Parts: sequence; C-alpha cells; structure tokens
Amino acid sequence: MSDTLLNIEDVEVHFHAPKGKLVRAVNGVTFALKAGETLGLVGESGCGKSTLGRAILKLGPLTAGHVTIDGRDIASGSAADIMAMRRETAMIFQDPYNALNPRLSIGGAIAEVLKVHKKVPPDQIEARVAELMQLVGLSPQLANRRPSALSGGQCQRAGIARALAVEPKLIIADECVAALDVSIQAQIINLLIELKARMNLALIFIAHDLGVVRRLCDRVAVMYLGRIVEEGPTEDVFGAPKHPYTQALMRAIPEIDPDRGLPTDPLGGEPPSPLDIPPGCAFHPRCPQALPICRERLPIERRIGTVKVNCHLYDEPSIHREQERETIHA
Ligand code: SF4
Repeated sequence: MSDTLLNIEDVEVHFHAPKGKLVRAVNGVTFALKAGETLGLVGESGCGKSTLGRAILKLGPLTAGHVTIDGRDIASGSAADIMAMRRETAMIFQDPYNALNPRLSIGGAIAEVLKVHKKVPPDQIEARVAELMQLVGLSPQLANRRPSALSGGQCQRAGIARALAVEPKLIIADECVAALDVSIQAQIINLLIELKARMNLALIFIAHDLGVVRRLCDRVAVMYLGRIVEEGPTEDVFGAPKHPYTQALMRAIPEIDPDRGLPTDPLGGEPPSPLDIPPGCAFHPRCPQALPICRERLPIERRIGTVKVNCHLYDEPSIHREQERETIHA
C-alpha cells in the first residue's frame, strides 16, 4: 500500500482581481507528500504559495486539478469527504492574534475544536484541553486567558494546540513564525520539530526563511509566479541549486542564517505579478541565463538525480534544434 498522504496534480487557482483582470495565482502544481514528511514551500511574496496552501485544504478557491488526501478526492469530494478531511488536517496561520477568536479564552478556542469534531466525550474536554496545552508548552493555568492577554508566542502555541486538537495527519503552516521575535521563532520551530517526530505529522511549511526550511524540512519546493520550478530533498536543492531562480535565492543569502529571510526581490528588476505572467518561462525577464527558447516555451520538468527542475538549461538538445527551426521558418 502506498504511504502517500497528499497527492496534488495540475492544481490551478485563478480568480478575478477587483478590476476584472484574471489573476493566475497557481498554475499546474503537482507534488506528493508522504505521512510524516515535511515539505518547505518557498518563494517571493505573491508567488502563490499561501493560495496553494489554502486551496489544498479547501479554505480557498481551487480552479482545476486534483487534490487527494488520505485517498479522498478533495477537489470534487462529497460533503462527507470534506468533513472527514477537516478531521485529519489543520492550518496554522501567520498572525497568531488574528487566528484566534478574541472573545474566546484560549482554552475555549481549543475546546471548540474538540466539540465540533467530537474528539472526546463532553466530560473529558477540560482534561484534553489541559493535555494539549501542555503538549505545546503552555501552562493549563492560562486556559482562561483571552488572546489579548498573551504574548505572540503563547498565542501561536495556542494556535498549534488548536491544530493538534483534530489529531491531524497533515498540517499546513503558513508563515507561522514570520510575525514572531527571533527567539520565539526558534522555540516554535523546535516545538514543530518535536511534534512532527512524536506524532508522525506531515507538514507543509510555507516560509520566507530558508534557514528555517533547511532545519525543519525533508524536502523543499521553490515557487515562482504560481509554478514549482525546482523540488527535491532539502539538502540536494540547497546544496547544489539547479534552477537559476533557486541559485539567485541562494546567492542573495550567502550563508543560510536563521535570522535572515528571503529578500523581497533577490534579482532586482520589476517584482513579478500574477496579473501579467510573461510567456514561455515566466522567469525569463529576470534570468541571467535565459536562452531564445525561454521567451516562447514553457520548460518541461526534468529529473536530475533526486531533484525535479523546470528549466530549458536541462532540455534534450533536440528541443532547442526544433525551436531554432521553428524560429527560422516563422
Ligand atoms: Fe532561465 Fe530559461 Fe531556465 Fe527560465 S528556462 S530559468 S529563463 S534558463
């Protein structure tokens, strides 16, 4: 039996911006995740990684493609399938204060999840809330406090406890440490590493911080304008990046330093917009190694050792000869 927990194929998320222009936020994304595995999803702001995370859990639009979680088709599944998926998955959000109901105590917020998903009998809810709080390093004595009476780190721990209350197989953490102080970030990352090992959690970790991704993730997928351009084991991708965009990200951060994140514009030039995606390889206007074919054709995924890369630099030579012939006869 396959141990694949999440399988996504050709996922697209398109929607209309306020002035009616089509935003192609996610385009043809395919990957799989095994139980207990952690995938880091990295790329500049606006590259579509948060939109993809929400689409996978049906918390946002999904225009096309297939998403299967634990064998259930999420894209076209029944209401029962979606409910079952909600019992096995959770999302941790960037802003720990906004993610919690300000009118509920954190104990109440965790209890709410236990009640909705009928995880424990009513008379055991209080004990389970205390257990979950201890699991994430929060004193159960804080259960009656509202989010406004807690620090950002405490609120994010409460958010993680809420996520764990469903006993998930898959968690998507969307920039979940970005809003925290560096020392608190390290604590939350250590907590996630510990929980992942203890509970065999599959985790998609959406992040700007390459140092954190390197520490936490088994695999990494690099996104550019809605597409995954390089994906593979973290050490293989970071150790010898193959795609020019990944190389640029790595060059922009000479040493992976946990205190530094992705630069907002690692290559200079106009920041990319999903409203106006260039033809061919979308990276070609910024790519120092662009070839004539890059302006016209989307690269096909190639496997190089353990890594998958979408770049014409790794094409069979026959593809370039064919494109040259087409250009001459055009
Ligand atoms: Fe650069 Fe061409 Fe590769 Fe795109 S396909 S990254 S433009 S070399």
